[in-house]
Amino acid sequence: MGTAHKAVFRSDQLRIEGASRAGDRTWFRVHPPGLAFDVGRGALELTGSDQIFLTHGHLDHALGLPFVLSNRVMQGLGATRVHCPIETRAALEAFVEAAAALERVEYDYSLQAMEPGDRVDVGRDFLVEAFAVDHGVPALGYHLVRKAKSLAFEHRGLPGVRLAELRKKGVDISTERDDYWLSYCGDTSRRVFELEPRVFESRVLLVECTFFDHSERERAPDYGHLHLEDLVSLEDRFENEAVILHHLTRRHRPDELRRAVDSRLPELAERIHLLMVSEP
Ligand SMILES: [Zn+2]
Repeated sequence: MGTAHKAVFRSDQLRIEGASRAGDRTWFRVHPPGLAFDVGRGALELTGSDQIFLTHGHLDHALGLPFVLSNRVMQGLGATRVHCPIETRAALEAFVEAAAALERVEYDYSLQAMEPGDRVDVGRDFLVEAFAVDHGVPALGYHLVRKAKSLAFEHRGLPGVRLAELRKKGVDISTERDDYWLSYCGDTSRRVFELEPRVFESRVLLVECTFFDHSERERAPDYGHLHLEDLVSLEDRFENEAVILHHLTRRHRPDELRRAVDSRLPELAERIHLLMVSEP
């Protein structure tokens, strides 16, 4: 799923484009609703996003924020809502304002602090919910949730005429449920699976997998990252339709990583996608 500088994943409902490599850059644009998860070192593909969700302040995820805001101003694209972990808000604001002063431009944006459990509407029946991860610096993951409407339980089985009557009387016959379309974990150690087991259930799971080598097995948690073996030990828990691994190492070729996944996760391999981009 790689092209020259970005990769694209498509499912029935979602289109995710992005680029991610360990220590280099990580950004994703997710349609619907067209929002950005992290901004890498800046990517033109994010210019159309009026909602940006940053997982943490490491520069391979957040450096590009002023670049994206600047491009949006240049193209007259209107206000941008930026969401970030509460602990990073002040530093991010100072960083963005320094860039604006440097350019002598005023960016049209708001910076909204998020904590685990916070939800924000992102339009078209979608919301984003923040969840806790473990990365050694303040960090969050984000779920993309679709608010799906269906017929309320007590009205199921009623004939159409009767339902129409109820509607006419102003009775709300529908019920709303949360459909977890995508969980994006950002950078995290394996603790994310204890902190937010819901990630096993979302339709698409976008999760990092920084370490592959056996020699790195013990180091991974200290660095706040995941090792392939962390996924192996949890293989039967993933209910997701697709698991996209990103933040992959640059030390192995794509075919080597694929072989490692196929041999270590035989049951899950069919649902695993490796998000890779070719060398620039
Ligand atoms: Zn990081």
